[in-house]
Amino acid sequence: MSFTRLAAELEALRGESRLRRRRMLESPCAAEVLAEGAWRVNFAANDYLGLANHPALAAAAQAGIARWGVGAGASHLVSGHTAAHEALEQELAQFVGMDAALYFSAGYMANLGILPALAGRGDALFADRLNHASLIDAQQLSLATVRRYPHGDLAALTRLLESTPAKDRVIATDAVFSMDGDIAPLAELAELARRYDAWLVVDDAHGLGVLGPQGRGSLAHCGVADPRIVYMGTLGKAAGVHGAFVAGHALFVEWLLQRARTYIFTTAAPPLLAEAVRASIQLMRAGDALRARLAEHIAALRAGLAGTRWQLLPSDTAIQPVIVGTDAAAVELSAALWQRGLWVPAIRPPTVPEGTARLRISLSAAHTAEHLQSLIAALVALQ
Ligand SMILES: *Cc1c(COP(=O)(O)O)cnc(C)c1O
Repeated sequence: MSFTRLAAELEALRGESRLRRRRMLESPCAAEVLAEGAWRVNFAANDYLGLANHPALAAAAQAGIARWGVGAGASHLVSGHTAAHEALEQELAQFVGMDAALYFSAGYMANLGILPALAGRGDALFADRLNHASLIDAQQLSLATVRRYPHGDLAALTRLLESTPAKDRVIATDAVFSMDGDIAPLAELAELARRYDAWLVVDDAHGLGVLGPQGRGSLAHCGVADPRIVYMGTLGKAAGVHGAFVAGHALFVEWLLQRARTYIFTTAAPPLLAEAVRASIQLMRAGDALRARLAEHIAALRAGLAGTRWQLLPSDTAIQPVIVGTDAAAVELSAALWQRGLWVPAIRPPTVPEGTARLRISLSAAHTAEHLQSLIAALVALQ
């Protein structure tokens, strides 16, 4: 691409209201943040339990620095795998009820590691149409034949599984869809995986810590367990730290250790982060009060917007999207809320399908009832 072309493309994005920009924070992630000169209520983070700035996690990270320093110095398979990483992997596996787990430096990296390790040329990969971008990129990297099924459409998926000539099959799905907030039919997907001898890859970026007894995630929430399930949980959202993990059957995890290029060819995450995540598991386990507060906020928002122009998508999770329609209208609404001290991001294509630009309201246990009431009042005023 020439510079002239770059400038023209950027100008075109600006014209379509699709130029992305970053807003800079001058305070830690919390329910209220100092951003661009004013304090705003933050409905834009994935810190669903309010742990990102929790003193116990900060203390664990500091103790981790005191013990381990900062850098891991090498990849896990060379010399970067510390006792902190090892303990974390065991604790994560136990938390989600799986044999074993590997700690990746990001959910994006974990997904890019999983799919190519499970499927290659000639294999078939079945993916929900609304899967996260990292799963979509991972599909392409795998070189498998990709069949995307309409969102949550089990009948369509069944037809695809029925007709595939491929011997090795993988179904991949978000557990909680990141831009819609709904939960995948995990029990039915696990049943299809059994019936058609497929792996089921479950991306639980938005369920871990939030759903299930003790916050053990979407599988526990749906009461689903199966050796052919590969579970991916991220640790930078409800867990409040950074990184991700993949858990599953012992043989699969051993295979991943041999084959996941995004685990093998990258420096291990700083052990201080592993220590912080270990502390986070304790807080998530003991976080029933946080999950109860989050549930109250979800109920308050849904009740407060009922009967208004702003129709929330059906969602029982911390992700509460309001479909606005055009990109410009979504951006305008988000800007009007911003002016009122409320930070609610507008999500536009290509992140979501054309014509479904939306506000993505992210709720957190860190919010107060007053934060919710001010958001509801502002949306009512902006109808
Ligand atoms: C955020 C997210 C990821 C990526 O996780 P990171 O740790 O932020 O890289 C993967 N899948 C889904 C569904 C997500 O929402």
